[in-house]
Amino acid sequence: MAHHAYSHDDKGHGNGHRGAPFHAITPFTMLDYPDRIACIMWVAGCNMRCLYCHNPQIVTGKGAIGEQEALAFLGARRGLLEAVVFSGGEATAWPRLAPFMRQVRAFGFAIKLDTNGLRPDVLASLLAEGLLDRVALDYKAPASRFHAVTGTKAYARFERSLDILCKQDTVPFEVRSTIHSSLLDENDILDMAHDLARRGYRGTYAVQRAIAGPDRPTLGDLPADMRAIDVARLVRLSPLDLTIR
Ligand code: SF4
Repeated sequence: MAHHAYSHDDKGHGNGHRGAPFHAITPFTMLDYPDRIACIMWVAGCNMRCLYCHNPQIVTGKGAIGEQEALAFLGARRGLLEAVVFSGGEATAWPRLAPFMRQVRAFGFAIKLDTNGLRPDVLASLLAEGLLDRVALDYKAPASRFHAVTGTKAYARFERSLDILCKQDTVPFEVRSTIHSSLLDENDILDMAHDLARRGYRGTYAVQRAIAGPDRPTLGDLPADMRAIDVARLVRLSPLDLTIR
């Protein structure tokens, strides 16, 4: 993902990079948190290996920015930023996510979590503690394609996260899918849309195309996706409002 990132300046803060949780911080965005000025904290490491992933360096690399450095960044931006988006990688795979979010909260920022849903236990406890103001959940693939797309067989865990979100109405959330036509097709998208509707999801379902190609490396070395999606068919048959990018 192209982002103008704040990076560790490597001037020697004495704590080294060992265990640094953040790959980078995008200091300013008006696109990732609806109606709020936010920064994005990119948590290094991921518990999936999606073939279309275009952030391999975040997934497999070590972090470069430590907790104290990230808190100093936020402390200096109180009153300038309104929200912090936790993305990755997969933020819920980081064991110190909850304690770190508590400190972000203490600064007065709203919090959005972007997640692949593989840690329903973490999601449930963050929700129960009131640490989340917004969630974006990636619906990677229907159960039958989940392993092939994500490299994990844990569809049941994703499913629990989806149900946890659908059964609460305190925290707004959105569901989105990233499609590369070599992995998923229109029938898969409709399967996911019907599954969402069946579970009670009433929001907009965001479908976006995967970014891939010779100059945009992916974990699975996918070619550029040249096949057009049959948008008219999707809109006609989807039980939910779709946005397709
Ligand atoms: S696309 Fe998949 S592998 Fe890449 S960061 Fe997201 S969940 Fe992890």
